[in-house]
Amino acid sequence: MSVRVRFAPSPTGHLHVGGARTALFNYLHARRQGGVFVLRIEDTDAARSTDESLAAIFESLEWLGLSWDEGPKVGGAHGPYLQSKRRDRYALHGRSLETAGRAYPCFCSAEDLEERRRAQTARGEPPRYDGRCRSLDPAERQRQMEAGLPRALRFALPESGESVWDDVVRGRVAFRNELLDDFVLLRSDGLPTYNFACVVDDHEMEITDVVRGDDHISNTPRQLLLYEALGWTPPRFAHVPMILGQDGTRLSKRHGATSVAAYRERGFLPEAMVNFLALLGWSYDGQRELFSLAELEQLFRLERVGSNPAIFNVEKLEWLNGQHLRALPEAERVRRVAEFLRARGETGFEMRSPEWQQALVRAIGDRLKTLTDARTYGAFALEETLEVDEAAWAELRERPEVGPRLRALAARVAADREFTLETLERDLRGLAAELGIKAGELIGAARVALTGRKVSPGIFEVLWLLGRDRSVRRLEDAAARWEASPRAGV
Ligand code: GLU
Repeated sequence: MSVRVRFAPSPTGHLHVGGARTALFNYLHARRQGGVFVLRIEDTDAARSTDESLAAIFESLEWLGLSWDEGPKVGGAHGPYLQSKRRDRYALHGRSLETAGRAYPCFCSAEDLEERRRAQTARGEPPRYDGRCRSLDPAERQRQMEAGLPRALRFALPESGESVWDDVVRGRVAFRNELLDDFVLLRSDGLPTYNFACVVDDHEMEITDVVRGDDHISNTPRQLLLYEALGWTPPRFAHVPMILGQDGTRLSKRHGATSVAAYRERGFLPEAMVNFLALLGWSYDGQRELFSLAELEQLFRLERVGSNPAIFNVEKLEWLNGQHLRALPEAERVRRVAEFLRARGETGFEMRSPEWQQALVRAIGDRLKTLTDARTYGAFALEETLEVDEAAWAELRERPEVGPRLRALAARVAADREFTLETLERDLRGLAAELGIKAGELIGAARVALTGRKVSPGIFEVLWLLGRDRSVRRLEDAAARWEASPRAGV
């Protein structure tokens, strides 16, 4: 039988990195095995599910390149793929469990349950359903039904035995059934609980392998008991390890951004994100770390997912991003920068000529670790008004002869008709030689004048990118400022 896997997010927020990692592992497992990747939306919590969050999940999955074979938008033979549209399926299977005596109606009100739970806790017992409606005598049950009391459907659990499975990641896992309680399958409003909907859908969608976070491991015995009660064969289970922050606690907002969208906004490439997520729990040979999605589709094996928690290391993501950026053909790198800046409403870059765009990206060079760096290191050329770093200026102010030198450089640049990297270099070096100073000295002053910073791309590129008029203006402005500012030594 060919592999069928699913990613089953609840649309109650952004797609988080943990969810994205689960989606990726499912996707890769399907691709590697020539199987089918299903997207199913678990939206039975009407109060918390939103269309915006659904759209955000689609967008993040699409951005990562994790296309699904069946699911919303693309359809498929096992739909509907939204749980909110499958209520009739849950009702049907709920009835069959009830008829078979494996489930029973429960008339306990929320207040009653809460009170009994509190009493259990007070007695030092673990809070669990006490089985009251399971032992109702048939006549009483009938009376309550006829009275039209709101009723939930509860699963009648076996009181002994074990639920055991051979987890692809964790090996043999066993739970004693007596530790579980008769959980609700259908609420009084007819909506299914997670465990029930999940089993019904996984069965009807012919899922062969359930790959999910190990925070679901305690649900698996409940689900196995449901498979057994319904007479269905359970899928294989693979519980992938949790993701921890660098301090060893579960990854959360405290550790910084946790949504895929936030990393996108910060200028990470989907290629790097995919590569990074793949390494959260999986390794190829313990050595190689750089992979494209296409390579992962060939190399990924669920059996190579470890059970140790994975550490979310942002520096590693940054490093991978730099690697993937560098691996892009230059034209593509330029295109990504343009697209990124456009998405942030900054049009200064894409309005320039392709040659200029390429020159800026080239000038930034390896400083481009995320797409945001194009913004940071390109600000001098992208923005009309120059922001001057105060520390850089303070240093410049104390240097001798800065005003006249910058004016002299401005004059050379203004007179340069060709205005190429070569002629600009000749202008500057020639002037330094005439002034009897090192070129580096003149470059240092010009850099602060032109970019406002002590660190920038190469100075000739800077001049070229700014163009003649802007360069001359900035050099003269800085000269005037220098001349007008009092110096400590003077
Ligand atoms: N909707 C569940 C979640 O987002 C799915 C769990 C599962 O994969 O079974 O955690």
